[in-house]
Amino acid sequence: MRIVLVGPPGAGKGTQAHVLAKTLSIPHISTGDLFRANISQGTPLGVEAKSYMDAGRLVPDEVTIGMAKDRMLQEDAAGGFLLDGFPRNLGQAEALDAFLTEQGIALDGVLDLEVPEDEVVKRIAGRRLCRKNGAHVFHVVYNQPKTEGVCDECGGELYQRSDDTEEAVRVRLEEYHSKTEPIIGYYQEQGLLVTISALGKVDEVTERAVAALEQKKNKND
Ligand code: ADP
Repeated sequence: MRIVLVGPPGAGKGTQAHVLAKTLSIPHISTGDLFRANISQGTPLGVEAKSYMDAGRLVPDEVTIGMAKDRMLQEDAAGGFLLDGFPRNLGQAEALDAFLTEQGIALDGVLDLEVPEDEVVKRIAGRRLCRKNGAHVFHVVYNQPKTEGVCDECGGELYQRSDDTEEAVRVRLEEYHSKTEPIIGYYQEQGLLVTISALGKVDEVTERAVAALEQKKNKND
């Protein structure tokens, strides 16, 4: 399956993507995680991305599109992938379409995670990520690790993202409304959109997501 995940920051894309990718046996490709890996390794790409990310702004397309394509061309992604955080604007969505056409492949569905804005702010404020694997995401109230500050899955140290500040979150939400939301209409026109509510427990949302994606795939086949 080839799936795109969309939703505002804090909708739980990363959390759901991690579980969905395991369930569907496809790699989870997160442009945010790729940028964060580049930042921690101090690569030139990471240095460039960091200033945009900390401010809550989108990293320029020239940098992002190339990085996403390189990742999709890796061997483990040959049979499918789950894109989390890409595309994030119409230019990226069009670049992705061109890439897929070039490769002779297509998307099976675009999963839109809907969540009210006040919930998003609460989720982001308490979010903690694992330093060893950014796909391991916790929350100080809603999804507590068994031991405070320690990742349940791999024992890594939990930390708060530098763009999870109030100011950066406000900018990220603005960027989402002005730049990312238009891709929802774009995918709706292509008949690919599946919208589910991202409210409720993590595993309830996962169940909803799997059911919605399977229904979509059966309709497409
Ligand atoms: P969230 O969905 O919570 O905002 P991500 O980890 O997906 O978190 O993204 C964090 C930041 O990384 C974004 O605010 C942006 O600066 C950058 N980023 C991630 N994906 C993209 C993308 N496709 N295009 C541009 N910038 C991106």
